[in-house]
Amino acid sequence: MHGFDAIWQEYEREKMDIQVGDILKLKKQHPCGSSEWEVLRIGADFRLKCMGCGHQIMIARRQVEKNVKNVKSVSKSEEDSD
Ligand SMILES: [Zn+2]
Repeated sequence: MHGFDAIWQEYEREKMDIQVGDILKLKKQHPCGSSEWEVLRIGADFRLKCMGCGHQIMIARRQVEKNVKNVKSVSKSEEDSD
């Protein structure tokens, strides 16, 4: 693995496939101008870090699902465990 090799995937509401390390693009922009957030923790609440200014927030999963536009998954090859 070299660098940050990731692809933007169109987010499907049915398929919530967000993992720690993924980058979320939200509909709402942070005041700093960035709309990309890194996922630091997943649970009933998500902890996200703004890619623009590094600000961290806690946000309810429901809110994430409502606001996410795209998910950039850190490329994982054959790590498909069920
Ligand atoms: Zn920010």
